[in-house]
Amino acid sequence: MGTPKILILGAGYGGLLTTLQLQKKLNYNEAEITLVNKHNYHYITTWLHEPAAGTAPADHARVSLDGILNKDKVNFVKGTVQAIQPEEQTVTLENGEVLSYDYLVIGLGSEPETFGIEGLKEHAFSIRSINAVRNIREHIEYMFSKYKNEPDRTDYLTFIVGGAGFTGIEFCGELGDRLPELCREFDVDPKLVKVYCIEAAPTALPGFDPELIQYAMDVLERKGIEFKIGTPIKQCTPDGVLLATGEEIKSKTVIWAAGVRGNSIVEKAGFEVMRGRVKVDEYLRAPGHENVFVVGDCALIFNEEGRPYPPTAQIAVQEGETLGENLAALVRGDLPQKFIPHLQGTLASLGKGEGIGQVGSKKLFGSTAAMMKKASDLRYLYKIGGVGLAMKKVKL
Ligand code: FAD
Repeated sequence: MGTPKILILGAGYGGLLTTLQLQKKLNYNEAEITLVNKHNYHYITTWLHEPAAGTAPADHARVSLDGILNKDKVNFVKGTVQAIQPEEQTVTLENGEVLSYDYLVIGLGSEPETFGIEGLKEHAFSIRSINAVRNIREHIEYMFSKYKNEPDRTDYLTFIVGGAGFTGIEFCGELGDRLPELCREFDVDPKLVKVYCIEAAPTALPGFDPELIQYAMDVLERKGIEFKIGTPIKQCTPDGVLLATGEEIKSKTVIWAAGVRGNSIVEKAGFEVMRGRVKVDEYLRAPGHENVFVVGDCALIFNEEGRPYPPTAQIAVQEGETLGENLAALVRGDLPQKFIPHLQGTLASLGKGEGIGQVGSKKLFGSTAAMMKKASDLRYLYKIGGVGLAMKKVKL
């Protein structure tokens, strides 16, 4: 093999951290590193609920790749991956360009999991990219302005959030903060605005401590969010949702935040998947493919009890860092290390200055959790872009 070609798909948490680690570890002539991403920026997915609700500008959640990649070491291709051909060791982009590789890293993130619920794909929004959240924000504002012209249409002022997991709860927290401002701006009586958070599971935030769940629900209820827990959505239509209970809620805004599956490109490439995610080995390799690695939401890893880890940025970052080191080791003929996740806790925001968290056996509430989340954001920004980026982005 001449200079090995490392091709990284996706500049999300997993792909970007793999790239940055390689950039740090390898000299410019040791490998040909190419990063492909749809956009020339990385977005901080864990912040997307803010621009979606309109409590922060979309720009705040994106980071220019130009500022963090070393052009002497990494060849950046702005393009959309269309297909992966593992047998030929090639990747095809939407513009027809074909890229070849010796090592492939798949970090293409996730797609909404609709669990086969009729109409969701067609009629619901999802918080998944900068473009998607700009659309949600504008739609919400448009609903307020439309209501002012058709005052009998209270369905314009009804907002449905499907899923009371992490994403749904964080979005409700922000939306709860934004609504009073929207009501003032559009001269709308706040009593007319309804936000339903609908969850099929018997609890909000499954997996969290019950005391933290109760705290989160209390905070959100005070912001006007109405929960319907243990209530599956059966169908989504252009006019709202139909619940398994038979109740119909009329609304022009359904935001689906109830789960993700791996990017469908992975399954289409013939990799064995569970809910679109590749069950990788301890070196993050796709089974049967020595030179294909998968990170982030496209990868499935299990804990010691054999339960899958949920897809999180925290794990994607750790996978990217380990994989970057491993690829550098492989290029140099050294041995790779096994990937072992080190969970540092979970933090969820509930809007401005409010949050919940679990760090080891310690439970965090309110402003303490919100501050911890800021500290964790700061650490991440520092990791990818140094002090400059951290100072520029973190909102105090
Ligand atoms: P992503 O970060 O999604 O990146 C995928 C990248 O691939 C993107 O840059 C995308 O543009 C690119 N891409 C996709 N398709 C193509 C294509 N065809 N061609 C080229 N490029 C492509 N996790 C936490 O740990 N903590 C949290 O607090 C938290 N909060 C969240 C809040 C929200 C609102 C959401 C939506 C998620 C949250 N998560 C959180 C989950 C976390 O964001 C994901 O697990 C994480 O982003 C996964 O990283 P990734 O690298 O797999 O993919």
